[in-house]
Amino acid sequence: MIVIDGSHGEGGGQVLRTALALSLATGQPFRIENIRAKRSRPGLMRQHLTAVEAACAIGNAECEELEIGTSALTFRPGAVTPGDYRFAVGTAGSTSLVLQTILLPLALAGGPSSLVLEGGTHNIHAPPFDFIERTYLPLIERMGPRVTARLDRYGFAPAGGGRIEVEIEPARALQPLDLIERGERQEVGARALVAALPGEIAARELEAAEKVLGWSLGGESIRKLPDRAGPGNILLLEAQFEHVTEVVSGFGKLGVSAQTVGEQAAKRMAGYIASNAFAGPYLADQLLLPMALAGGGSFTTVKPSLHARTAAGVIEMFLPLSISFVEQEDKRHLVSVRSA
Ligand code: AMP
Repeated sequence: MIVIDGSHGEGGGQVLRTALALSLATGQPFRIENIRAKRSRPGLMRQHLTAVEAACAIGNAECEELEIGTSALTFRPGAVTPGDYRFAVGTAGSTSLVLQTILLPLALAGGPSSLVLEGGTHNIHAPPFDFIERTYLPLIERMGPRVTARLDRYGFAPAGGGRIEVEIEPARALQPLDLIERGERQEVGARALVAALPGEIAARELEAAEKVLGWSLGGESIRKLPDRAGPGNILLLEAQFEHVTEVVSGFGKLGVSAQTVGEQAAKRMAGYIASNAFAGPYLADQLLLPMALAGGGSFTTVKPSLHARTAAGVIEMFLPLSISFVEQEDKRHLVSVRSA
């Protein structure tokens, strides 16, 4: 039995989600202890519980009685069964993270699946729906499966109430990819969303981002969402290249000025653009799992995060692969997933 120490490395929920996905896709059971030990509220939160429940449901897994705060669990997967599923986080917890737990096992299953996921769609510390749609899924599709995601309702913390629908047409296997060059820059754009908050917040975020990046965005970048979704605010900056689209987000927070939110997000986007790397820091840790399930692949990225190194460690426990991170002369880092 594979035994994982959930406090290792980043020590967050990604260790659990990566293990669930790998277990479903490879049929190997695992036990995890010290779940999310490095987070301020360790153990399973609603979103993680939903991810485990979703993994149990699609994978006919033997599941224990779990509750909020559980810090260890054993997961024994059965056969992954494609079909129509609905999972509700029940709070504003991230639907994107639940999706990333079950997407790849379903994308390798013997038939199409249809998912409805309810909870948060734009959460801090998780991929916003736009990142999933514009950055992550196009690369999954390049590996073979067809995946379409639709946002039905926005969900911000604390209100939740968001809903996404995802259609998955599986592939027999994932194609390994070498994602080295991002290609020519094609378009840039930005959107600032506000729900039950003054539109002026969005305007100030966009103005600050425009100044840092030298982009000229125009007023249609502001989107006022229905009040019932709020309060919520996110700034989404997008740079489309020939081979990849990066979406950088800035979350509005009480006590942080709109100008600061705009400037900080814009500086992160400027850093990504200057790096010339294919993958930004978040895409980098999220690409490791699909590449591992493809049996190999490589990509360039900015300085690898602890999330990326931690995910690599979990993958190496399940699959005979070796993942290397090598800094290049041009300061980009080359991440390679190869047979061990
Ligand atoms: P964890 O903190 O272990 O629950 O993992 C969080 C996951 O969310 C990681 O895979 C991150 O790459 C991803 N993530 C966090 N913030 C963002 C963001 N702003 N954009 C895209 N992905 C994100």
